[in-house]
Amino acid sequence: MAQLSDDCFAFGGPLLPLDEAVALIRGRLGPVAAEERLPLRQCLDRVLAEDLIAPVDVPPFANSAVDGYAVRFADLAAAGETALPVAARVAAGQRLDGPAPPGTAVRIFTGAPMPDGFDTVMMQEDAVLDGDRVILRPGLKRGANARAAGEDVARGSLALPAGRRLRPQEIGLAASLGLTVLPVRRPLRVAIFSTGDELAEPGGERPPQAIYDSNRFTLAALLARMGCRVTDLGILRDSRDGIAAALAAAAPDHDLILTSGGVSTGEEDHVKAAVEAQGRLHVWRVGIKPGRPVALGQVGETAFAGLPGNPVAVMVTFLCLVRPLVQRLQGAEPLDPPRFPVRAGFDYRKKKDRREYVRVQLHTAADGTLEAVKFPREGAGIMSSMVAADALVELPEECTRVAPGDPLCCLPLGLLL
Ligand code: AMP
Ligand code: MG
Repeated sequence: MAQLSDDCFAFGGPLLPLDEAVALIRGRLGPVAAEERLPLRQCLDRVLAEDLIAPVDVPPFANSAVDGYAVRFADLAAAGETALPVAARVAAGQRLDGPAPPGTAVRIFTGAPMPDGFDTVMMQEDAVLDGDRVILRPGLKRGANARAAGEDVARGSLALPAGRRLRPQEIGLAASLGLTVLPVRRPLRVAIFSTGDELAEPGGERPPQAIYDSNRFTLAALLARMGCRVTDLGILRDSRDGIAAALAAAAPDHDLILTSGGVSTGEEDHVKAAVEAQGRLHVWRVGIKPGRPVALGQVGETAFAGLPGNPVAVMVTFLCLVRPLVQRLQGAEPLDPPRFPVRAGFDYRKKKDRREYVRVQLHTAADGTLEAVKFPREGAGIMSSMVAADALVELPEECTRVAPGDPLCCLPLGLLL
């Protein structure tokens, strides 16, 4: 099990570009989640711990991709139709007793093994049965409608790389290889809590000056989507000692502690001092908006990330920084979500030298182009903007102005969450 190095989050500069922050996370951290072997049915959303080398070919034998007539390509006339006697019949799950003679066709069905020496299949729609002969249209290519052994996954090849998060398609691929147990990483154990004297538990009593705590619920859901095992430690009051005690209690049983609120520089922001009292802390002024300073550090051997309090900033800093951090600790592949080109349907000014994520809805314009329309209220506390948004438009550091019609890049939220 890899451990956090002592100053894995150390960074000296004043404003850290987001790409550099992610590169630091990826470069300095390693997997902490131990390996275990699990039945395939329990592997969904787990991270594969070792490269999976295919023990067999998939498909295991050459077979027909259609219902039709199998032939030897060499038996087909160079020009015009070919008439061949139908010598045998083979359905999926059957196999011919002996070889089919050259100069014949074999009635074959999808998934049935190709007769030895037969390499091509004519679809039944393109063939006409005439008594015990079949008349085949010209123009068939060698190998048409036949699937070669190992064409999906070849025996001995890399079927799945270590670090791959196991989605339904990976589970299916592993089953097609005949595997029933996979080496996976155990789920990352993440403790979360919120900080703030103004926070009340949803469902509990809410004093008039309080708001309901939403960040813990957002974070628990985000972490669950990433396959983490979440311990919800509730709301902590704005007290250095209380927070320090909670951190110390949580650290031994968790791989990561994640908090929201209390990391700004106000005198009621106690998270930083609490982490410093217990372990090490590095505050990164990351050049992103929304998102203010993000505190990263460790309490004992446990990684710590302190996110800002505003609910939209929580989500954006999670997606930009905590997601790669969790992936690293999980031993997952460092995956960058795909960006999609969109056209600006809004006018906007922004500060230079910071990456900005703008919440947008996507519409198809009259000319068929995808257009991004900015959500009108942009405050970092406006969670309904995340509910309404289809995507985050990513404005690069050097950009200072967006005009309607400009080409932009967006990250669809559906691919991030
Ligand atoms: P802070 O970073 O603690 O200064 O908080 C910034 C803003 O986010 C304040 O308006 C807080 O009330 C709000 N906030 C902090 N934590 C939460 C939370 N868990 N749920 C909802 N809003 C929060
Ligand atoms: Mg606060």
